[in-house]
Amino acid sequence: MSRILIQHTDALTLDEQNRVLKNVNIAIDGRTIVAMGDAPRDFVADEIIDGRNHVALPAFFNAHTHAPMSLQRGWAEDLPFDRWLNERIWVAESALTEEDVYWGAALAACEMIRHGIVAFADHYFWMNQVARVVEESGMKASLAWCVFGIGADKEVGGASLEHTEEFVRQWHNAGDGRIKTTLGPHSPYICPPEFLRRAANDAAKLGVGIHLHVAESQEQVERSLREHGKTPVAHLASLGVFDVPTIAAHCLYVSDDDLTILADKRVTVAHCPKTYLKLAMGNARVPAMLARGVNVALGTDGAASNNSLDVLESARIATLWQKNEHCDPELMPSMQMLKLATQNGAHALGFDESGVLRVGARADIILFNFDKPHLLPRHDLAANIVHSAHASDVDYVIADGRVLLRKGELTTLDEEKILREAERRAFRLVGSEMWQVRAYND
Ligand SMILES: [Zn+2]
Repeated sequence: MSRILIQHTDALTLDEQNRVLKNVNIAIDGRTIVAMGDAPRDFVADEIIDGRNHVALPAFFNAHTHAPMSLQRGWAEDLPFDRWLNERIWVAESALTEEDVYWGAALAACEMIRHGIVAFADHYFWMNQVARVVEESGMKASLAWCVFGIGADKEVGGASLEHTEEFVRQWHNAGDGRIKTTLGPHSPYICPPEFLRRAANDAAKLGVGIHLHVAESQEQVERSLREHGKTPVAHLASLGVFDVPTIAAHCLYVSDDDLTILADKRVTVAHCPKTYLKLAMGNARVPAMLARGVNVALGTDGAASNNSLDVLESARIATLWQKNEHCDPELMPSMQMLKLATQNGAHALGFDESGVLRVGARADIILFNFDKPHLLPRHDLAANIVHSAHASDVDYVIADGRVLLRKGELTTLDEEKILREAERRAFRLVGSEMWQVRAYND
């Protein structure tokens, strides 16, 4: 465990007072912030980071993604949801191997670290491979192994609830506590009620949460009302799913009663607005959720629908869309958006000690380089980040007190090798020739 001193940086604490600090030092000992302002006189740093012209803030948390789907970035474009899924995504996923999952997740990890993301809630198959990437990269994660519960022949990679519970037992709190796990039933529109009830019971017994997809279309809501006499949210509540900590991705079509359930049960809604725009799915009622005290966090969803793993971009789209939709420019101000992108996600993933800069908090910190024309003048640091910065302006990423990005260079992953291997595998998955590469070589 090393000691790091960040000197002369500006900082957004994202604490209760929303303090904006000018020209401070931040001292990190091991995994923890031990001083803000002046470092203790006897503090001897192993690494000193020059924070001049930088802005420090808590690192971003991605509350819903499918990291290995980065292999399908740009493979399913401009299609309605059912054709996107059936004609493109399933085609590629039917050829997927366990090793592909590793390289897809590694590609995603490179991208997410570069975008200032230290942790992600992932929902996919062969999650032992994603766990390997988390372990090696120094990132943190909440990992859900996706199960459909409609027969062994329909599951990807031989998954079953028992199998995924074994994954939970093996990996929960592994990697010095950086890896959390949840159970991952796909959704109430695919999983049968008895299966969801069993998943909820088993999650409670294992002491973990649940991560699933909820209410992505009006059609799903109508079908749920027909088949179960309840909305998807009420249906899940009645099965006990929300009795364990739950990440409910999307929740696009929810009633006022649903919002009350989500708030009472302390469910996190993972909001992924770029996917909704791109697949023309409609918008979520985020201001109403926030007004009722629902924990809303920001996700990217997978790169097959987004097409970038960029929580800052999610924050920007989320606020602009709501302001415009409600004709209300006061909605969802920048400081609030940064809290959604940091501490609300940290809470959702089970890392409550993260998401704020203060003494005693976990050292999950990013530094934006503000010495750029599009980030000056520094009237409002939060607004500059939400509305002007590029995620690539992040040049330091610290997770659990460990530097994962230093002056724009990844420290834990062999990026060159990952980029080449991931693209080779992505082309193989869909049976395409590497025509782009060949065109350059010829
Ligand atoms: Zn998703």
